[in-house]
Amino acid sequence: MPRPAPRSALGYRGRFAPSPTGPLHFGSLLAAVASYADARSQNGAWLVRVEDLDPPREVPGAAGDILATLMAFGFVWDEPVVFQRDRTQAYQSALDLLHEHGLIYPCGCSRSEVARLGPPGIEGPIYPGTCRNGLPKGRRPRSIRMRAPTSPISAHDRIQGTQHQAIDRAIGDFVLRRADGVYAYQLAVVVDDAWQGVTHVVRGADLLLSTPRQILLQRSLGLPTPSYAHVPLVVDTQGRKLSKSLAAAPIDPANPLPALEQAWGLLGQEPVPAVVSSLEAFWDHAIARWRSARVPARAAVGIGVEGDEEDSRALDRPQPSERASGMDESRHAAITRHLEVN
Ligand SMILES: [Zn+2]
Repeated sequence: MPRPAPRSALGYRGRFAPSPTGPLHFGSLLAAVASYADARSQNGAWLVRVEDLDPPREVPGAAGDILATLMAFGFVWDEPVVFQRDRTQAYQSALDLLHEHGLIYPCGCSRSEVARLGPPGIEGPIYPGTCRNGLPKGRRPRSIRMRAPTSPISAHDRIQGTQHQAIDRAIGDFVLRRADGVYAYQLAVVVDDAWQGVTHVVRGADLLLSTPRQILLQRSLGLPTPSYAHVPLVVDTQGRKLSKSLAAAPIDPANPLPALEQAWGLLGQEPVPAVVSSLEAFWDHAIARWRSARVPARAAVGIGVEGDEEDSRALDRPQPSERASGMDESRHAAITRHLEVN
């Protein structure tokens, strides 16, 4: 079944970057299918990176389990899997460079202090700038923050259209290294996408609001900005968080075709013909027929559950949902507002 890697993939390089916080769920599968079909349809390379930056949130064995599930679903990656836990020196080097440019500063505030003093933003309180011009007397550095620019950042998205975000007013100076020493996702993803030569990022719409911060970091570090495409998140038709409503029915590595076909349909693609009855035939069809322009430009799509499998449709109103990393409803509402504005 394995599909041979392209011998020469100098152009397109895509990737899938799961967090090992549990088994692969259907929402992640949807993003993986989109990313893989997009890469292979352009004869591109496809890479896998395990985003295991945050040890307290990891589930032992989850990384191996996710990789085994991907293989069972017919995904083939072209280079050894990269683990972010091996990459901390690269993240520190990036911080050192940002420090040389005067773009970061140590912050001595606790989370509760920021929550008390910061006005509401799209991802929680906006950092009030307490330590921006130097640590207040008697405070010790805890985290490292990036200075948010005053001019908005525009991010072109192949599916969702162009997004604009004033990071200083939406989020504020944001953390690049936490008080516990863990490097922030925003920094790691930028460093690793550049290091792996990723040219095209296809991922879930929960990361739409993060993209301007990533573009800011790319510019600040002198790194290229990849092409972005954010696919809808998956919720059930009542708008419940998928990972909870489908907890009893995780995707089944022993029977991959139904889940692949359902993901394909939710991505707005041409139906898979009935004659397609093997993984290989599914991927042949998918790679030949993938059209990113058909993916719904929405924050979320809904699926039915418990015998309601045929009732899949794009929801008019994006609904609350979550990614493996966990997204609260205020964040989801922010994405929804963001998409309605643009
Ligand atoms: Zn501070």
